[in-house]
Amino acid sequence: MSTTAHEETLGFQTEVKQLLHLMIHSLYSNREIFLRELISNAADACDKLRYAALDNDALYEGDSELRIEIEHDEKTRTVTVRDNGIGMSREEVIKNLGTIARSGTAEFLKQLSGEQQKDARLIGQFGVGFYSSFIVADEVTVRTRKAGGDKAEGVEWRSRGEGEFTVADLEREVHGTEIVLHLKKDAKEFADDFRLRSLVRKYSDHIEVPVRMPKVETARDDEGNEIEGSEVTTWETVNEATALWVRSKGEISDDEYKAFYKHVAHDFSDPLTWSHNKVEGKLEYTSLLYVPGRAPFDLYERDGSRGVKLYVQRVFIMDDAEQFLPLYLRFVKGVLDTRELSLNVSRELLQQDPKVEKIKSALTKRALDMLKKLAKDKEAYQTFWNVFGSVLKEGPAEDFANREKIAALLRFSSTHTDSATQDQSLADYVARMQEGQEKIYYIVADGFNAAKSSPHLEIFRKKGIEVLLLHDRIDEWLMSHLHEFEGKRFVDVAKGELDLGEIEGEDEKKAQEETAKAKEALVKRVKEALGDAVQEVKVTHRLTDSPACVVLPEHEMGFQMRRIMEAAGQKMPEVKPILELNPSHALVERLEAAEGERFGDLALVLLNQAIIAEGGHLDDPAAYVRRLNALLTA
Ligand code: ADP
Ligand code: MG
Repeated sequence: MSTTAHEETLGFQTEVKQLLHLMIHSLYSNREIFLRELISNAADACDKLRYAALDNDALYEGDSELRIEIEHDEKTRTVTVRDNGIGMSREEVIKNLGTIARSGTAEFLKQLSGEQQKDARLIGQFGVGFYSSFIVADEVTVRTRKAGGDKAEGVEWRSRGEGEFTVADLEREVHGTEIVLHLKKDAKEFADDFRLRSLVRKYSDHIEVPVRMPKVETARDDEGNEIEGSEVTTWETVNEATALWVRSKGEISDDEYKAFYKHVAHDFSDPLTWSHNKVEGKLEYTSLLYVPGRAPFDLYERDGSRGVKLYVQRVFIMDDAEQFLPLYLRFVKGVLDTRELSLNVSRELLQQDPKVEKIKSALTKRALDMLKKLAKDKEAYQTFWNVFGSVLKEGPAEDFANREKIAALLRFSSTHTDSATQDQSLADYVARMQEGQEKIYYIVADGFNAAKSSPHLEIFRKKGIEVLLLHDRIDEWLMSHLHEFEGKRFVDVAKGELDLGEIEGEDEKKAQEETAKAKEALVKRVKEALGDAVQEVKVTHRLTDSPACVVLPEHEMGFQMRRIMEAAGQKMPEVKPILELNPSHALVERLEAAEGERFGDLALVLLNQAIIAEGGHLDDPAAYVRRLNALLTA
């Protein structure tokens, strides 16, 4: 047997080096997770072999009893994790244990700097995987052979985790993978039978593949004394070894649910909540869905991993089956096991199978219900919302049928609290509506402060009418798909006519009409002075403190959305704002008294200010400054 044949030493990809460095420093107090990661990989490898063997029994090479074995040796300070799963080819070893293939990795690692690097939670967000071996080991050896291959196709991979690794050909009788950790001196506690057994139970009870450890038994004589030399080693299964989702809910502890989550989601921290359902009847499936406690680093990556782990009749079929949940629920992780699909289903077939749509709509309901339940715990829901809220906001556009349900799950900032934290529900808003108020008012702006101090809110603040303050990039898009909630229409306070309905008394309306009449001449002069720059000029009663504001016609795309589209390179048709003047403001009175060039300058300054207050950009800001300065010094 030769282990040096075709030996080559290769460097880790830069990202791997960074990850190794970060991990060793940040996960020191969580070192035991290496075992969870290695068992998780071994279990995945067994799942993959079982799936591949559906078509080709020969892949088992006569050994179809899938299992994971763990051995240790205190003297040599080693721990070995072995599986008879799918194994790896030389190319796979180099790719899987030398690079990180997930998109967005480099970006993510670049963002972690200085103090953050010590933050275990941040690195956990990424999922540490195989490389976590180096938290406890100063040398790792992997011996593997692909199932169904020739015994000469084995590979040995070795590394000290210091920037490079060596791969060599290896003759290997059996398929599957064996990972030998040579423990660091200060990690020798892991070469201990009791410690290992308790870790296996803690992290791997839910894994269906048996995890076995050797047990030494010594025969005893009639008086109960051990008989020297009679030791026999047998393999003992240490974990529960039943797929978690198959067991009944009542038997499963929260800790078991959490441990299972870490395995399926490749996450490091606890989930916020979960929902486990067995459905029989017309559509048979078992689902176990989780809401993670934080965003994976690739949540906004186009090809970030999403979807559930798919099993058909308990046989693992694929990871990341994204066909069973809509995009706006892409943060949901978990398992779907169903009899409705055939074992040889592929990604392509999934797209055509009408049953997939049915299961998708059932899982969508489950997921939305799970969020509804979570919402009862305000604090937990806020954690969820802060992380995933802007993803859920994609919902109303994507999933028309569930619009009301999704709307009930949304959270917003509002003038009720004037806080940037989005924590007010639409139901809260409706419950606080004033007598005679029929609509849900909102404003969209580029940021919280811009929303909070928008001139459009003045009349609402004066009358104590609540307005939702929308300041996420996606908000205007969201509102273009939400028309009403509990029968109450949404109204953008920066668009169209201001209509407060019954909140305004007849007297008020009358007074407004009279003012409008009295200012007709002024309005005409301003329109003439501004010409094409505005669509229309009006007097308004929206304002109490500001002299003017700009408004868009009701069905126009809003200012914020236009800016987003323009920033994305879209050419937008020009739209002229409506300028509204506050008749009782001192500046407007001054305008009324002005003549000639001064009148034109003042009118333009008012328009420009209104555009700035809206978060807009001036075509010629320098001209505005000149004009304003001229007026200030006049
Ligand atoms: P992840 O499990 O999230 O994919 P890991 O770092 O844990 O990431 O593992 C990287 C890859 O290495 C796995 O996706 C798998 O392809 C391969 N791998 C790791 N351990 C084994 C094993 N015991 N048998 C077969 N392949 C393995
Ligand atoms: Mg893994």
